[in-house]
Amino acid sequence: MDVGGTKIAALLVDGDDGVIASGSARTDSRPLGEQVLAAARAVLDGQVPAGVGIATPGQVDAAAGTVRMAVNVSVPEVPLASIVAGELGVPAFVEHDTRAAAAWLLSKGDGDSLTYLSVGTGISAAVAVNGRILRGVSGLAGEIGHVVADPHGPRCVCGLAGCLEAVAAGPAVARQAAAAIDRGERTSLQPGAGPAEVYRAAAEGDRVATRIAAEVGTYLARAVRGIVLAYGVDRVVVGGGLSRAGQPFLSPLLQAIEQERSESALVRHALRQDGLQLLPPNTEAGAWGAVVIARTGLLAASADAGRRREVDDG
Ligand SMILES: [Zn+2]
Repeated sequence: MDVGGTKIAALLVDGDDGVIASGSARTDSRPLGEQVLAAARAVLDGQVPAGVGIATPGQVDAAAGTVRMAVNVSVPEVPLASIVAGELGVPAFVEHDTRAAAAWLLSKGDGDSLTYLSVGTGISAAVAVNGRILRGVSGLAGEIGHVVADPHGPRCVCGLAGCLEAVAAGPAVARQAAAAIDRGERTSLQPGAGPAEVYRAAAEGDRVATRIAAEVGTYLARAVRGIVLAYGVDRVVVGGGLSRAGQPFLSPLLQAIEQERSESALVRHALRQDGLQLLPPNTEAGAWGAVVIARTGLLAASADAGRRREVDDG
């Protein structure tokens, strides 16, 4: 299960990752647990899975299987794993969506140190080092979205000013487009243009849109450098809503990274030329991540049960 801002996607797979069924439902105002269960039942169609993995945004406590969806900490936690496990009668596991996506990238076996960077309405990252997904005491390891990108930048949802998320995520792109229109700059962009329109206009050579795309690319390139140097990963995979713009999003980012690589032997050494990749646009990284989370959780549970049996027998 992959819980998103507008939809909940579900994927039912066999032991060899063969897709048996898939589907999605628009999110609504019902309690989260109810929505996830309804979407799960729709793809299960009476079948009983070995387990359920759930990738979700928000503050996730993977060990407890809980999630808190709002930034406001007074909102109660939803015990999502126990709700789903209780109703479906099988083990359920919850993980933050970017960590789930990183777990999936890791499971593909192409290197054991990487970062999944999601750039959409917000910016978040999950870091895997030597085969382990970092979590940290706070569960915030890798949260690059709230590292300062421009100290004089606008106020961020987290309360601080000039976070990367406040200058390079989707709402920032839309805000910059609106500001340029307000200033009367010559552009094909219409009032209310969102990130998709901005990147489309950039692809068509619109100067305002091209400048916004270049700025976002520069901010993200610095963030990529920060991630690579701070964690020692040699691969950064970028996904999320903005990345779906494809080349108009990727080109300025690659260009900014190449600029840094050309100026610094350190950066060249830390990040190989093909070290930055875009997640293919139709990849359901969250849902596949949830599959990996479920499989890993089931394996760990059976290993635990095996150890308990040995203790009991011995
Ligand atoms: Zn912030």
